[in-house]
Amino acid sequence: MRTDQEKADGQRILAGESEATCELGFRGADFAPQEYGIAFQPQAMILIGRDWIDTEANRRAQGRDIGSLTLQSFRQRIGYWKTVGYPERSVGEMELPGVYDDHGTCCAAYDFLERFCGVRWYGPREVNIVRPSRKTLTIRGKDVRRSPALKHRNALSMASWPFMQKQWDIPSAPELYLYWRRLRLGGEPWTANHTIFPQTVKTVFNDPEYQAQGPGRSSQICYSHPELVERLVREARDFFGGKPLPEGLKAIGDCFAIVPDDNAHWCACDRYQALRAQGKDADTG
Ligand SMILES: [Zn+2]
Repeated sequence: MRTDQEKADGQRILAGESEATCELGFRGADFAPQEYGIAFQPQAMILIGRDWIDTEANRRAQGRDIGSLTLQSFRQRIGYWKTVGYPERSVGEMELPGVYDDHGTCCAAYDFLERFCGVRWYGPREVNIVRPSRKTLTIRGKDVRRSPALKHRNALSMASWPFMQKQWDIPSAPELYLYWRRLRLGGEPWTANHTIFPQTVKTVFNDPEYQAQGPGRSSQICYSHPELVERLVREARDFFGGKPLPEGLKAIGDCFAIVPDDNAHWCACDRYQALRAQGKDADTG
């Protein structure tokens, strides 16, 4: 593996934008978000896509996600060589491409290994990986230029409950983080989970006007109340206008979540009950 600073002769695989790819007319910025390419040229093979640029401004764009995780918290650091079984090559920790950042080159590399080299990742551990052994690498195929059809590929949930942690043996955290990239999880940031729950009912949605009526209904509000609707619209507008999000609400990128608490203590008022009656299979609990 070489950088622009080190000359390399012979057949090359160019990964990510470099002087060499620019000479051949390939620039990361020419790709749309999440788009990447695998290109075969006479002197080189190119793996490239749109990649996040590490600038102060980009580092500052924190976002907010499930469990108050930030974009930065999905740029995990791992000891790469140790994780893939070559501790003797270790050069310390490296930051993996952010799950929610553009990392087209990384996707191009994994797609290339899968599509043209027969590599398969059935799980995060060494035992789950199929890696055909060859003396030489001969690649035939057509150029690829694509982006995933699904723009949201997040099943990651919160740090205390990481996706696939307990499946296929017990992987280490670095193995798991690497596996998420190999599966190409991530994409456009989105978020969900409760946003109307005891905490926010106390601090944000505390207008007595739209609290749920009836006994034991303190963690719900009246979802049919026009003032509540207005309040939610105002919060969403504020967020998209760049204002900080009140604690307990969840929003990121172009996504603003509205999710009630986990119980069926719905408002007992006539207007809400009439609305509910329209759902003929509604649970009456
Ligand atoms: Zn009501």
